[in-house]
Amino acid sequence: MRVGICGAGLGGVSAAIGLARLGCDVEVFEKAPALRATGSGLNLWPNAGRAIYGLGLRDEFDAIAVKLDRYLGFAPEGGPLFECDTSAWPEKYGAPSVGVSRLALITMLADAYGADRIRFGHEVVSVENFDDRAVCHFSNGARHEFDVLIGADGIYSTIREQLIGGVRFRPNNHHAYRWRAIVDLAETDVDPAAQTGYYAQGGWLAVIPIGNGKAYWFGSVSGGDTVEDFMSFFQSWTNTHIPRTLSITPPDAIIKSPLYDVEGTPYKWTHGRVTLMGDAAHPMMPDLAQGASQAFIDSLSLRDAFATTNDIDEALLHYETDRYPAANYVVNCSRKGSFRGKNGVKPIAVRYEEEIETVQT
Ligand SMILES: Cc1cc2nc3c(=O)[nH]c(=O)nc-3n(C[C@H](O)[C@H](O)[C@H](O)COP(=O)(O)OP(=O)(O)OC[C@H]3O[C@@H](n4cnc5c(N)ncnc54)[C@H](O)[C@@H]3O)c2cc1C
Repeated sequence: MRVGICGAGLGGVSAAIGLARLGCDVEVFEKAPALRATGSGLNLWPNAGRAIYGLGLRDEFDAIAVKLDRYLGFAPEGGPLFECDTSAWPEKYGAPSVGVSRLALITMLADAYGADRIRFGHEVVSVENFDDRAVCHFSNGARHEFDVLIGADGIYSTIREQLIGGVRFRPNNHHAYRWRAIVDLAETDVDPAAQTGYYAQGGWLAVIPIGNGKAYWFGSVSGGDTVEDFMSFFQSWTNTHIPRTLSITPPDAIIKSPLYDVEGTPYKWTHGRVTLMGDAAHPMMPDLAQGASQAFIDSLSLRDAFATTNDIDEALLHYETDRYPAANYVVNCSRKGSFRGKNGVKPIAVRYEEEIETVQT
């Protein structure tokens, strides 16, 4: 079976690994000239770890991921707000909660698939969908035909646009932007086995270790549009490491991401021989840190669907039946969190256990 995958992000490359190991003839196309690792770091939960292990990448993942034993929350004055012990999660849930560098993760996945097999510089511009195949056209004039085409081309998916037209992106009115950067872990003076967050009405910032002596900080400020707004919000938090952490961060290393999900009734993913996965299928607010996790679970589900039957249409139906309700449930949980203030909201580790782990298998 010839499978085309559009997009070499975390979703597309992990799907390629699963399907290639099943014996499919997989080709991955990426518009960028090389692997992209925007966004610095990720928090991945046991459901992500289980999916990555399920794809046969246990040793590779454990080698780059930093196990988090605690989630610590503090008030701006430095007083404790909460402490969640996650040290026993590998035994309890089959994988740890981790911090990981995006670059290390996408490099690990690309190496597992075969980085030299990814067709960089290939931007999909249009798709033709037939009963028994899909044809992909690229901006460089190339044309390729597949039995199945998977749109793993992210939140602004061209493939989705081809299938269902435009969607209405819904901004996060409470925290419009996420700011983030990588710094030296030692300079932050935080617990190297914890996610450490400081929370106030109107703004918050958290740090997680991501390996190789580095940490990833990320935060949001209500109503703050510029990096100066963001930085100045934390200047009075002098009982915390934050003013120092921000002061040692080179301004050009700071990434600003607008936060969106998609408004209205979720759309169907599979149309004929084309389907969607990852952010193309279910973009979500990052408040539960589940977007990449859900993309890995999609990859495992696709692999399992095609392992179950040789009937391509049936396999695509299996995949969408398995993943559509579960992923859209997580989209809704993430959206709910996004529109509330941080104070008084349950710690993310508690939300993960209550809203994700007990519901997802
Ligand atoms: C601020 C922020 C923080 C986050 N933190 C977390 C977290 O801690 N944990 C977590 O699990 N998730 C997190 N996420 C979500 C996570 O980043 C995404 O869900 C995940 O990266 C989606 O992977 P993907 O492969 O579906 O899409 P992407 O990573 O967006 O990859 C899509 C790929 O497709 C390529 N592409 C696009 N268009 C075309 C085209 N026409 N032709 C060819 N190629 C194309 C792109 O160049 C890109 O390489 C966060 C998101 C944000 C915004």
